Amino acid sequence: MTIALKDVSAVEVTCSNCQACCCRLEVMIITDTGVPDKHISVDEWGGETMLRLEDGWCSAVDRDTFRCTIYENRPWICREFEMGSDECKDEFNVIR
Ligand code: SF4
Ligand code: SF4
Repeated sequence: MTIALKDVSAVEVTCSNCQACCCRLEVMIITDTGVPDKHISVDEWGGETMLRLEDGWCSAVDRDTFRCTIYENRPWICREFEMGSDECKDEFNVIR
C-alpha cells in the first residue's frame, strides 16, 4: 500500500504565504462573536456555519489578499485553529 504524503518541510508554514486554506473548511458558529449575517449560512435545523461561496472559500475571505475581512468578529473555531498545527499543515497550500 502506498500512502501519499504532503511535504511541507521545504516552505515555511505561515498564514502570510498560504491561500487561507483553512478558510475552505466548514466552520460552525457556536458562540456569538458578532459575525455579520451576510456571512452566515443557516441549515434547516437552525445550525449556523460560515457561508462558503462557489469557489469553496468562506465568504469573509478577501479573494485578493486571502485575509479575513471580519478578523475581530471571526468565529471561535477560527480563533482556535492554530497556525503550524497538524490540522493547519494538512490544509496548507502555498500562494504561487
Ligand atoms: S491553513 Fe494554516 S497557514 Fe494556512 S491560513 Fe490556515 S492557519 Fe494559516
Ligand atoms: S471567518 Fe475569517 S478566519 Fe474564519 S473561515 Fe472565514 S475568512 Fe477564515
